Amino acid sequence: MFFKVLGSSNPTRLFVAGIHGDEEAITRPIFEMMIKDIKIISGRLVVVSLSRDCPYISTLNEAYYDSTNGKKLLELIQEYRPGIYVELHTYKIDNHSNLIDPDRRKKIGVPPFTELEEKVLIGSVSPLIRTSKFRREDFCFTLEMPDPHSEKALKIALHILRSISLSSSRGEILEKLREQYPLQIQEVEKNFREFFKDMRNISFF
Ligand SMILES: [Zn+2]
Repeated sequence: MFFKVLGSSNPTRLFVAGIHGDEEAITRPIFEMMIKDIKIISGRLVVVSLSRDCPYISTLNEAYYDSTNGKKLLELIQEYRPGIYVELHTYKIDNHSNLIDPDRRKKIGVPPFTELEEKVLIGSVSPLIRTSKFRREDFCFTLEMPDPHSEKALKIALHILRSISLSSSRGEILEKLREQYPLQIQEVEKNFREFFKDMRNISFF
């Protein structure tokens, strides 16, 4: 397991990769590049890559949170109580159209991901934890890297992850993201506002 804590006190940002063990080959080097030369001036950044010896279970399935990696993930959230929470995943390029399918919610019950550019996708985290482990004002974010990915996709992912690492609140992050990707952020917010409204009558990313 890869584990680094930079800085101290709040706000706490928790970045997790290796949620699905076989994704680590791509996601761990991204985290290593991301924290290289980074200076956290306020709060802390906790960067973790979980074990690779874990069979694949979707985080949309409750059984995931009973698996070794799932339990570890819940422990980390419990221990650090992050106000800013990021999951870094990868997906096989063949799966791209399923992940951004506008009918994804009808088909599997959760909103589609939104493409930033170069097949780098963003969305919220599993509703199973978004609604129970975090507060409304927290920032919960998933970044999906395509496998394989281009050099440009890597630069985009690093830029987004660094920008979140150096932000202190949900508002600050959304402002930066909106500036760079106005249409995409509008789409994500619309998808998740509608989705969570049905569940809890509240709206969040
Ligand atoms: Zn994954």
